[in-house]
Amino acid sequence: MDEFDLIRRITPKDTYQRSLIMGIGDDASVYQPHSHCEEVVCVDTMVEHVHFRFDFSTPFEVGFKAVAVNVSDIAAMGGTPKYYLVSIAIPPHGDETIVTELYEGMKALADSYHMDLIGGDTVATRSDFVITVTVIGEVSKGKACYRHSAQTGDVVFVTGELGSSAAGLSILMNKAAPSKAVDADFFLKRHKMPQPHIAAGHICSSFPRVTLNDVSDGLASELNEIAEASCVMIEIEADKLPIHPDLQVLRKDWLEWVLFGGEDFVLTGTIPESNWESFESQCQKEGIQVTRIGQVKDDQAASVMLKDNDQQTMLMKKGYNHFKK
Ligand code: ADP
Ligand code: MG
Repeated sequence: MDEFDLIRRITPKDTYQRSLIMGIGDDASVYQPHSHCEEVVCVDTMVEHVHFRFDFSTPFEVGFKAVAVNVSDIAAMGGTPKYYLVSIAIPPHGDETIVTELYEGMKALADSYHMDLIGGDTVATRSDFVITVTVIGEVSKGKACYRHSAQTGDVVFVTGELGSSAAGLSILMNKAAPSKAVDADFFLKRHKMPQPHIAAGHICSSFPRVTLNDVSDGLASELNEIAEASCVMIEIEADKLPIHPDLQVLRKDWLEWVLFGGEDFVLTGTIPESNWESFESQCQKEGIQVTRIGQVKDDQAASVMLKDNDQQTMLMKKGYNHFKK
């Protein structure tokens, strides 16, 4: 495979964003930011055999997810994705078909948000694929949703349902055996091709004091990040956590998936009680599932508590951590 041939083939023929001045083809890309906006930028890397395996996912699905996880970070700021850049390290087993399909998967997700591919880098590697995607987006001035503004009395919410991606991964790894009655494809799709919650993030950013995080490392971990940044105690209720009904059929300890599974890429956060009704009705109007799962309690010690019947358990920030032995 020839590097320049590859770049020529992945260079978009048309672009969506009118603010783009120079895309792929020069030393760097150039665009004109909107003056009423702030820029939101994030980057995520996916490593073969760590984040994905081609015996579990097709190259198309891997590409799709590599962009989706970044777009989810933009959603968690209340932003709109605009551009993406792709740095790819290709091993010897990475033939032209795989690389082409990877880019088709990336483009499929990007097209649905009118995002343009505006650059990247291509290198060869010895053993595994490494795919790094950078996404550039924007949010109206002062409207980004940070983690540090939760206050006592706020409502804790989640968009979409939890645990489905972890269930999908368990099915792939033969750790969960779905019976015929279980919609296995639903869970596999949630794991392999997650849909970022951009529309929900937009609604969040239209309210004055929303904290927001996307569920990549698991609900317990994300809420701990909000609790720490805001110096508050967050209490959630086990029987309020939204799940697909089949989840309980798949595993007796399904709550483990819900709290610590991660990669659901739904949004979780807090909103003042006075805004809750209006927020809920706006979500409903746009067909977005939003569930009230708890409350911000006080500011004594940053922590997350799970109420299950009459039991209270402190939820630690466990979940996947690359450097933990
Ligand atoms: P340079 O030597 O200036 O870094 P390159 O030959 O690496 O230029 O890249 C040429 C153009 O192609 C640049 O616009 C770069 O952003 C783009 N590009 C290179 N590799 C990729 C890739 N894997 N995906 C998307 N764009 C790429
Ligand atoms: Mg380069």
